[in-house]
Amino acid sequence: MHRVSHDLARGAGVRENFEEQLERFYDLVEQAVVTGDPSWVDPLIFDWANVPTQSDLEEGQHSLSALISKISALTFEVARETLSAKDALDLLTAVTAVYTYSLEKASHHEAEKRVSYISNELTHIQQKLEQLDRSKSNFIAVAAHELKTPLTLIEGYTSMMRDLVTQTENGFDPMLQGVHNGVRRLREIVDDMIDVSLIDNSMLSLNFQPLWLSHILGLLKSELQATCDARQLTLESRPFPGGEQLIFADPERLYQAFRNVLTNAIKYTPDGGEIIVDGRTLPGFIEVTVEDTGIGISAEDQAVIFEKFSQLGQASLHSSGKTKFKGGGPGLGLPIARGIIEAHGGTIWVESEGYDEKKCPGSIFHILLPARSEASDPKIAKLFGDETPTTTTES
Ligand code: ADP
Repeated sequence: MHRVSHDLARGAGVRENFEEQLERFYDLVEQAVVTGDPSWVDPLIFDWANVPTQSDLEEGQHSLSALISKISALTFEVARETLSAKDALDLLTAVTAVYTYSLEKASHHEAEKRVSYISNELTHIQQKLEQLDRSKSNFIAVAAHELKTPLTLIEGYTSMMRDLVTQTENGFDPMLQGVHNGVRRLREIVDDMIDVSLIDNSMLSLNFQPLWLSHILGLLKSELQATCDARQLTLESRPFPGGEQLIFADPERLYQAFRNVLTNAIKYTPDGGEIIVDGRTLPGFIEVTVEDTGIGISAEDQAVIFEKFSQLGQASLHSSGKTKFKGGGPGLGLPIARGIIEAHGGTIWVESEGYDEKKCPGSIFHILLPARSEASDPKIAKLFGDETPTTTTES
């Protein structure tokens, strides 16, 4: 025992304590051999696994299973040197099973400790990430509100200047028009930042009104037609049964959600491509699809594009326009669209064979909306009660 403790523990104090432990271990091994029950060593292995006594030992022996292996190897060595060959063999035969059991137990405890350490670390990292996400969200909200005030001033002065400055033959002064366009884009970005923080904090409130999806999609087509013409894109909005069905939803927010999806379809489809808006009715739902012949989205990116700030293009390719080919934006369009659709009780997802700028496999965005035939506000429901179709009810 002295030899074993001498080889394994350095320093008189450490060795003395270790010798006591070792004595206990050998006693328990003896009991285990005598009774044929190796679980006698359990309490000691448990203590060793939970008290970091190994850290007092030499470098390289910090793991409990390594320590037990060393104890058994040294014990056998001492037995070989001090006992007759037969006695040494008898001892070896008797204790091997107990040592093997002890090793298994030690490894088991170590694995458990490691798993609990890793899961603690993961929880810690998760908490940090959540805190970071909250700070980011708060920063966006504060920054957006701070930007709003000077932006409103610039907007006001620009429009006053537009009123004052004489118009050129081609319309407004091109420089003033440039400022006006820049300010409008800035306003869109600030509004998107505010919307994303509202969605993040579950504060998006909807103003439910009766509407026809065909009406919203028609208005959108009129707004985006000129951009499509300029880029030789065909924008087709096909009539579908659900489009003519009166449903209750927030028209402004839905317009915004569809606009985000459609402007993406325009942005990520090369000139000369095609965008088709179609739909169908499903039990209790209306599905709208926006299909394009654009660059497509890889399977791994499909999983993240609805998360905020997930734009996938390189920052250097960013265009200031919302509908120019390829340049990514701030990555807020789809998270806002998803927030709006989900606030209505619907879902949005994408289907695409992958990303390929040459072959252009295209993407199909699916938007599933509940065919809500009643307003959440009973007064509105009553007002439009006669017009409300009875075919579908919200599930
Ligand atoms: P962005 O402001 O970058 O357009 P979005 O949230 O609207 O942000 O879209 C996130 C990302 O999803 C885009 O950067 C783009 O890479 C990808 N994406 C969205 N719509 C399409 C589409 N129709 N075709 C190809 N890629 C798309």
